[in-house]
Amino acid sequence: VYGVRLLSNEHNVPDAGVLVVLHDVTRLRLLEQIRRDFVANVSHELKTPVTSIKGFVEMLSDSGAGDHGEQKRFLDIIARQARRLEAIITDLLTLSQVDDASERGELSFESCRILPLLEDARHLCETRARDRRMKIVIDCPHDFSAVANPHLIEQAVVNLLDNAVKYSEPGGQVRVRAAQHSGEARIEVSDQGQGIDRHHLDRLFERFYRVDKNRSRKMGGTGLGLAIVKHIMQVHEGHVEVESSPGEGSTFRLRFPLQSREGGDAAVN
Ligand code: ADP
Repeated sequence: VYGVRLLSNEHNVPDAGVLVVLHDVTRLRLLEQIRRDFVANVSHELKTPVTSIKGFVEMLSDSGAGDHGEQKRFLDIIARQARRLEAIITDLLTLSQVDDASERGELSFESCRILPLLEDARHLCETRARDRRMKIVIDCPHDFSAVANPHLIEQAVVNLLDNAVKYSEPGGQVRVRAAQHSGEARIEVSDQGQGIDRHHLDRLFERFYRVDKNRSRKMGGTGLGLAIVKHIMQVHEGHVEVESSPGEGSTFRLRFPLQSREGGDAAVN
């Protein structure tokens, strides 16, 4: 759909001509709708914990607030909701920083060895993995390197590992495999967890999309982890794909060119 705007021939001068401006209204409307949905989602996600914090603070400051045990319970809820707010804000900042740095050409890409990145990512997920008695196994050649932004690749792997641990039953195993395949780097994170029904797969990488909102919240999820992974792959001129079988587990795969970004900048759409 195109919008047609006539820049009018105000004084009706014969043969003055008419300038027709064509706008791609469909695309503009779509972008505007995406922006509005995003703002509405962010507001909703932030409002829920704020409302809860306000409610419990009011109860605490009531003269009739209960005994010490009850006060402690209220304070724990307030602390949990504050952590949730912090997690959402941290993830929103990460998303906008990747965009900004990428648009200004400020992201540095360098040749980096992948194995130490994967080991650092595993280290960052160790506490949660230990709590859930999960083992993270890495399978990556020592000399495997690719041109990438090491900080962002590590962040993408942390997000995938964190999900693999969160959405699996305690005691399972998560496997990280990395290797090069015909000119591209591939990093796979596989779990034996609950899996994802196929009708969710198309929307999984949208901001704030969750398959099971309650489970995500209970596990401290923000609904932004996979959107961040998708962004990180975009600035690497790559993409992320997922294969999943409900009840059997999921594999998320990062794919990006081994070479392309050296010395270059990247744009995100
Ligand atoms: P969240 O913070 O909710 O984990 P993500 O963007 O990281 O948000 O993931 C979006 C949703 O995708 C999750 O809420 C969850 O329902 C689903 N999901 C992501 N990774 C996995 C996985 N490894 N196994 C099962 N479901 C997953």
